[in-house]
Amino acid sequence: MLISLFEAESSIMFIRIFNVLIINFGLILNCVLKSVLFMACPFCDKRVQEGFLSSENFVAIYNIAPVLPGHSLIIPKKHVESLFDFTDAEVAEFMVLGRKVAFLLTKALNTDAFDWAVQEKEAAGQSVPHVHMHVVPRKVGDLPNPGDWYQELEKSEVHIDSANRKKLSPEEMSSIVTMLRKKTAELNLV
Ligand SMILES: [Zn+2]
Repeated sequence: MLISLFEAESSIMFIRIFNVLIINFGLILNCVLKSVLFMACPFCDKRVQEGFLSSENFVAIYNIAPVLPGHSLIIPKKHVESLFDFTDAEVAEFMVLGRKVAFLLTKALNTDAFDWAVQEKEAAGQSVPHVHMHVVPRKVGDLPNPGDWYQELEKSEVHIDSANRKKLSPEEMSSIVTMLRKKTAELNLV
């Protein structure tokens, strides 16, 4: 009787240890997969996240290959793939920062027009699986037709460093970001 009780306890102990090992293995595997994913995601790169305006969870960055002058992106600081993964408060924060950025860009470029877009999943044209909102200031006559900006975005947005679109040099990028940071302070948007 004593032996069988001991055996039963041993079995339970073995199952518990086994469960702990399985759970930990799952967690480790999850961490490894996430690390690999983050390494491959251009928007998770801390250098890319050095933007010109930010909020607690989001940052505005200048597009390295803009469709038109001022073309910027609002991205979450953490890797989030879908709008549906945001809380309601995060959706609000995302849009509020987007609107601030649109205001800043239109002031910086002396216009009152802009386009913005979020592509959800590959079928909708999402090229980088990290949520990003495009904000593009517009001027009358900047493209043959006002709606052409989306075709420009679609055909060239293979990666943020698209080969089909002229890439800014580090100097050009630095100069634009400095100007936008200065304008942000002037407009008291921080
Ligand atoms: Zn990412």
